[in-house]
Amino acid sequence: MGAVHSSSLALSTSTDTCFIPGTSALRPRASKVVSKLKSNSSLSGRIWRDDKILDPPVSIFTSTVAQDSIFAQSLPLRCARLEMATKNDAVAGKPTLGFVEIDQDLVDEMVYDALVWSSLHGFVVGDRNIERSGKVPGVGLVHAPFALLPFSFPESHFREACELAPIFNELVDRVSLDGKFLQDSLSRTEKVDAFTSRLLDIHSKMMEINKKHEIRLGLHRSDYMLDEQTKLLLQIELNTISSSFPGLSCLVSELHRSLLNHYGETLGLDPRRIPTNAAVSHYAEALAKAWIEFNNPKAAVLVVVQPEERNMYDQHWLCSVLRERHNVRSVRKTLAEIDAEAKLQPDGTLLVGGVPVAIIYFRAGYTPNDYPSESEWRARLLMEESSAIKCPSISYHLAGTKKIQQELAKPNVLERFLENKEDIAKVRKCFAGLWSLEDPDIVGKAIESPELFVMKPQREGGGNNIYGDNVRETLLRLRREGTEEDAAYILMQRIFPSISPTTLVRDGICYKDHAVSELGVYSAYLRNKENVIVNEQCGYLMRTKISSSNEGGVVAGFAVLDSLYLT
Ligand code: ADP
Ligand code: MG
Repeated sequence: MGAVHSSSLALSTSTDTCFIPGTSALRPRASKVVSKLKSNSSLSGRIWRDDKILDPPVSIFTSTVAQDSIFAQSLPLRCARLEMATKNDAVAGKPTLGFVEIDQDLVDEMVYDALVWSSLHGFVVGDRNIERSGKVPGVGLVHAPFALLPFSFPESHFREACELAPIFNELVDRVSLDGKFLQDSLSRTEKVDAFTSRLLDIHSKMMEINKKHEIRLGLHRSDYMLDEQTKLLLQIELNTISSSFPGLSCLVSELHRSLLNHYGETLGLDPRRIPTNAAVSHYAEALAKAWIEFNNPKAAVLVVVQPEERNMYDQHWLCSVLRERHNVRSVRKTLAEIDAEAKLQPDGTLLVGGVPVAIIYFRAGYTPNDYPSESEWRARLLMEESSAIKCPSISYHLAGTKKIQQELAKPNVLERFLENKEDIAKVRKCFAGLWSLEDPDIVGKAIESPELFVMKPQREGGGNNIYGDNVRETLLRLRREGTEEDAAYILMQRIFPSISPTTLVRDGICYKDHAVSELGVYSAYLRNKENVIVNEQCGYLMRTKISSSNEGGVVAGFAVLDSLYLT
């Protein structure tokens, strides 16, 4: 737990001393683990959603994992025999690359230790098999799913992603202030996408009353994949609402460090190459600083949550650090509860249960499912009208939509918001190809080669994208129908990260499969009028998921939390 509270952002290792020559040849998984066993059973995993761990339709796993993958298997704690891609000579600082078998008992021991560590350190989620696990804290806990070893990632690309964080923060802030840009960019989408339209309605109302947010707080996470062929770090998306796992991502880094402290010498892996991850401390600090700016000692942080939340411990970690270290209390409410209980005072103060609200921190409200009735929309509007600091405001929320991401990638648009040419170049370098469906050439190309594209609707939270043949079918249908429904989507270049054999642990069971990884970099931004109080990179999240063929429109298999092993 202590390590989670570590406030240092520095790498846990000195870059001068820790990088052992020759290790760049390491495969993406810190120690490449290859199962020799054949697939012999089906998996019962889950799809990863941004803030969620969901049960997939059975077909996902039968089609993409159990049948396609020679690595797929489900074994109780005794894993398959593993082979390591690194042979160690760590003491001399020169690992020799090659294959060395890890004793099966060692793998079992590591998994066992990892499960004990997770239970003792609050690296947990609600267990889907237990009904009340998403409602009542302390009931039905299970360890969060994790990769047994950290993911090997080039230090230069990690630094690149970290350097982008403050630039994206500034960009979001500038874009959020340009109400006309947001409205114009989303005007076609609005006609065909009821959810975006409702968000824009609230935004328009705020523009009409000339609502100004002098204190602005952003807790963002920019997600990237490293394209294997071009070696370019390309942005998947920028999350400006409900950036998940600031709590659990710190814990998985600590878990991996703990494992490497014990087994690193045997495995030829140096625990100091796992960068310190203090996302939860930095997020809590940014919230605390915003609370100070709000300047009402009686005020609390209102955490907007979904009625059922199996990822609640990630959220509780943040609130617990906020309370214990900064003495700021938080109150958890659903949108429906806010509609029923919240009051707006004439001076704009939002009261919940009589308590004034300093900051509204959204861990819900990013998907249409969060608004089953008018009640939830009333709550969202009421909060936006209040004087509380919104994290995010409706403008920040809209600035993080996929349509805006695509608009920003157009020529000369970044220049409207950023002055520094180097910053502009850095941001542009991480943009993958992004297009509107109004471009007939690109639509033609995507129909021809759909495997090179991803089609994305204006949705958050995972599981919405269209891949492969479904891209072609959807584009042909839209072309045939000739409606404006095309405005609900953007097209994005498909990124192909390297695929590596990985050992994943879920529900106390160890699996092996081919997987891909996605890096998320957390950042915080706080300003009060012209004074930028916080603008920093805050830590990272690695998510690793089973690579799928994407045939049949399958997005992914199950995913796990992971950390970084810098090479
Ligand atoms: P969401 O808001 O639903 O999280 P994302 O844009 O993050 O939407 O897409 C969900 C997932 O789909 C990502 O986490 C990533 O694994 C995959 N994905 C998204 N865009 C691409 C892309 N261009 N190439 C490859 N995979 C992608
Ligand atoms: Mg995402």
